[in-house]
Amino acid sequence: MARTNLLGLDLKGLEAFFAEIGEKPFRARQLLQWIHQYRIVDFAEMTNLSKALRQKLTESAEIAPPEVLQEHVSKDGTRKWIIRLSCGNSIETVYIPEEGRGTLCVSSQVGCALACTFCSTAQQGFNRNLDASEIIGQLWLANEYLGKEPKGNRVVTNVVMMGMGEPLANYNNVVMAMNLMRDDLAYGISWRRVTLSTSGMVPMIDKLREDCHVSLAISLHAANDKLRSEIIPLNDKYPIAELLAACKRYVEGHQRRHITIEYVLLDGINDSVQDAKDLMRILKGLPTKINLIPFNPFPGTSYRCSSKTVISRFQKQLLDANFVATVRKTRGDDIVAACGQLAGEVQDRTRRTQRIVQMEALVAQ
Ligand code: SAH
Repeated sequence: MARTNLLGLDLKGLEAFFAEIGEKPFRARQLLQWIHQYRIVDFAEMTNLSKALRQKLTESAEIAPPEVLQEHVSKDGTRKWIIRLSCGNSIETVYIPEEGRGTLCVSSQVGCALACTFCSTAQQGFNRNLDASEIIGQLWLANEYLGKEPKGNRVVTNVVMMGMGEPLANYNNVVMAMNLMRDDLAYGISWRRVTLSTSGMVPMIDKLREDCHVSLAISLHAANDKLRSEIIPLNDKYPIAELLAACKRYVEGHQRRHITIEYVLLDGINDSVQDAKDLMRILKGLPTKINLIPFNPFPGTSYRCSSKTVISRFQKQLLDANFVATVRKTRGDDIVAACGQLAGEVQDRTRRTQRIVQMEALVAQ
C-alpha cells in the first residue's frame, strides 16, 4: 500500500488521516508543527509522540518534499529553485527579497493550459496539476534553503501564487496548500500576504471567496474584449464585464480589501493613451491597485516591452486620476526568473486544441 505523504495535508486533512488510522484528532496539530515549523521528516524524531505511534506512522505515511535540482542566485538577490518532481518534469519557484519582506512566487501546475500569447510558461504546454504537497513543498523548501544561509535572516513573509500555471484550474490542491500557508500551526501568513493571481476563471473566483479568503490579483492586461481575447484566450469564455463583476463580489462586505489588477505593458499593443483611458473607465468604482508589469521577453516572442517613457506616461495618467498604480520592478531577469519567464522542463502532453477542451472541462467542474 502506498504511504500517504503528510506534507500536503492541511489541518482537516491530517485529522481525517488520524481518524482513519484510529488516532486522536489533536495529533494533527502536533504533526503540522513538526512538518512545517521544525521541518522534521523522520517520524522517529517526533519526541512528543509515543514510540508505538511513531512506528505506526513510519509504516503508513511519509513526509516527502520534492527535490531541488538547481539553485540560481541573481545579482539582485533573487533566487530561483528548479524543483524536480517524481514524474521527471521540473517546475520553478522564485524568492524575491526586498527591504522588510521576502516574497515567494509559487507554481501551481506543470506548464499551463491557458495559452496566453505573451507568457513563456504557456509556450511549454500543459502536463499536469501539482498536488498539494508539491505546492506547499515549494514553501517548505524555500524555508529550508533560506534557513541554511549564513546570515540566516531571510524569511518568506509573503506568498504569491504567480509562478507556473493557472492556480484556479487546480483549485482543491491550491486551496489545501493555501490553508497551510495561513495556519498558525504551519506558516501563519496572514491572508493579506497570500495573493492568488488568475487570468479570470469566474466561477472559481466566487468559490474562493467562500472557501479561502486570500488577496486576489487579476491578470487583466487589456481594457477591451477584442484585444483581451486575442492575448488571453480564456477571455472568450469569461469576458471582462463578467470578470470585473466577480471581482466586485469578491471585495463586497470586506473592509480595506482591494483587487490587484495586473497589466503587462506590450509595446504598441495595449499601452496607448486611449488604452489607459479605457482601463480607468472599466475599473471605476472597483477598489483596485494597478500593477503595471514591464513585459519580460523570452526566446521566440515577437512582443516587445513598452519604452520607459511610455510606461511612465501610462502610470502618470492613472495617478493623475487618483488610481493607485505602481510599476513592478523586474527582478531576477539575469537568471530567467522574472514574470512570465518561468518555464521549467515540461513535457507537453496536450495539443493546443486538446488544451482548450481540457480547460473547458476544468471550467465546467
Ligand atoms: N495564470 C495566472 C498566474 C500567472 S501569474 C495568471 O494568469 O494570473 C504571472 C503574472 O505574470 C501574470 O499576471 C501574467 O499575465 C504575467 N506575465 C506572463 N508573461 C509575462 C511576461 N512575459 N512578462 C511580464 N509579465 C508576464
